[in-house]
Amino acid sequence: MDDKEYNAMLERAMSKLPPMALRHERFEIPKIYSFIEGSRTIIKNLSDIAGILHRPQDEIFTYLLKELASRGDVEKGRAIIERPMRDEMINDKIKKYTNEFVLCRECGKPDTKIDVIEGHRALKCMACGAWRFVKKI
Ligand SMILES: [Zn+2]
Repeated sequence: MDDKEYNAMLERAMSKLPPMALRHERFEIPKIYSFIEGSRTIIKNLSDIAGILHRPQDEIFTYLLKELASRGDVEKGRAIIERPMRDEMINDKIKKYTNEFVLCRECGKPDTKIDVIEGHRALKCMACGAWRFVKKI
C-alpha cells in the first residue's frame, strides 16, 4: 500500500467516526465580572461561579480573600473585596481554585464533590471514580 492509498483509507475510517469522538470537550473555567468602587472591588457574579463549580460561594470567597491577602464581605449578594483589584488577578485565583478543588486530575472533568476520606478532605470524581486529598481552605 502506498502513502496515497493509506491516507485515503485513513480518511474513510475517520469519516465513519461520529463527530463527538473527535471532539474533546473541555470544561471552561468561569470568569468573574467585577468593578472598582472607590477603594473596593465588587464581584458581581460570585454566586453564578459557585453554581457552575458546584461549590459553596462562602468557600470560594474565603479562598479568594486568603489568596489575595485581602479582607472582604458579602453584602446584599455582592462579594466585596476591601481593595481595588483587577479582574485578571481574581480570575487567576478562580482558575487556581478550580484546578485544585474542582477538576479531576485523571479525566479533567468538573463532576466532582468534596468528601471526607479517612478524616481528610478529598476530591471525588463522579465521572471516573478517581479521588485525591485536597488542602483545607
Ligand atoms: Zn475523573
